[in-house]
Amino acid sequence: MRKRAFLYGAGVTATGFLCRRAVHCSVTFAFKGFLTRMARLVMKFGGTSVADMDRIRNVAQHVAREVAAGYHVAVVVSAMSGKTNELVGWVRDGSKMYDTREYDAVVASGEQVTSGLLAIVLQEMGIAARSWQGWQIPLETSDAHGSARINRVDGHNLIEGFEKRGEVAVIAGFQGIHPESGRITTLGRGGSDTSAVAVAAAIKAERCDIYTDVDGVYTTDPRIVTKARRLDRVAFEEMLEMASMGAKVLQVRSVELAMVHRVPTYVRSSFDDPANPGLGTLICDEEDIVEQQIITGIAYSKDEAQITLRNVSDKPGVAANIFMPLADANINVDMIIQVVSDNSTTTDITFTVPAAEFERAKVLLEEAKGGIGYASLEGATDVVKVSAIGIGMRSHAGVAARAFKALADKGINIRAITTSEIKFSVLIDEAYTELAVRTLHALYGLDKA
Ligand code: ADP
Ligand code: ASP
Ligand code: MG
Repeated sequence: MRKRAFLYGAGVTATGFLCRRAVHCSVTFAFKGFLTRMARLVMKFGGTSVADMDRIRNVAQHVAREVAAGYHVAVVVSAMSGKTNELVGWVRDGSKMYDTREYDAVVASGEQVTSGLLAIVLQEMGIAARSWQGWQIPLETSDAHGSARINRVDGHNLIEGFEKRGEVAVIAGFQGIHPESGRITTLGRGGSDTSAVAVAAAIKAERCDIYTDVDGVYTTDPRIVTKARRLDRVAFEEMLEMASMGAKVLQVRSVELAMVHRVPTYVRSSFDDPANPGLGTLICDEEDIVEQQIITGIAYSKDEAQITLRNVSDKPGVAANIFMPLADANINVDMIIQVVSDNSTTTDITFTVPAAEFERAKVLLEEAKGGIGYASLEGATDVVKVSAIGIGMRSHAGVAARAFKALADKGINIRAITTSEIKFSVLIDEAYTELAVRTLHALYGLDKA
């Protein structure tokens, strides 16, 4: 087998030129006298990429290409598309107040199936491979079942498999183990992205390729805006905001890990020809982006619910009385608006919570009604948060103001606004989602020419 020279630090081409993007450097022989070892690569495939046996065979072709190029490969797989939703549905059918440890035991099973199947298909092609469950690696997590955080990934067993047995490691994504209790944990929806980046950091992979059903990160969700453009590069901070604001192409935590551990991470398509795939989008440092736009992307999230408390007495301590019970119940409050009423002794307070927490938040606020002292509680779940993200906002004034005008011109009412250094968000009626996203996309010059 050909060897890829692995040089710590910068990538170096065969002709000796420094190459900033190691992925483009195809060094396919060993440099005598240099420290050499087979370079390692993590490839992650999401649900649509492993949806059935034909798609799994297609994944195996992508893996075979990288093995032939001389990489030691760890593949991280999701469950077949729709599988995790089905498993979650069964758990909820079993009990409304289900034991989250058993939820994890059930929902982690989807990835167990695809990891075994891909290993079988690779073996059938003559490529040595074995499956790894989270607990076998081990990938250790906290005990926050359903949304556990990764504490440690031991790369030794995987590396031993590469070096002693020449095996491709096929890893069940999304799952780990809480070592103290020995229980299986899962990392939250979309968590296989995070498994992949964490494994890449642990085995010091040259890069982490996240294969999905789109060929990169776009200026907005290409499924709702056909004029969305693929970005060659996105800065870590921007990707973090885009993911947090609803662009589900990468799980937020995976971007955090890539940023902290400096893992070069690409988003690519498993639907590209396995013999000649596109490069996709690189998530990288801000300094590595040559052409910086003011706004890089528009994201939207329907996972929001709005709560308004009417005629809250306007006195010190009221905000604490409202938000402390929610904080104690681990309910994240995002946008907050306070409007003083005409008589100025009372005020209306509007805020948003995740849609999944809406019912729980309402119950808690009704229980706390005596302490808060409000006249009525109104709620809405047919709302959407639309956000514009861009590092260029740091150095440009009036970026958000232009959006408010453009949305008003389209007759879209803004219910709430939040801003931060590199993004602003508006809460609007869900019915206007596409119109608002398209309007902002065009406003900031992101439409395809
Ligand atoms: P996987 O199952 O491979 O993890 P996901 O469904 O989690 O895939 O993520 C890919 C989807 O993310 C795409 O199909 C696309 O609709 C959506 N998406 C949302 N925003 C963006 C964006 N800015 N760029 C690319 N895809 C996006
Ligand atoms: N299968 C899990 C989910 O659907 C994890 C993942 O796909 O990343 O959320
Ligand atoms: Mg995903």
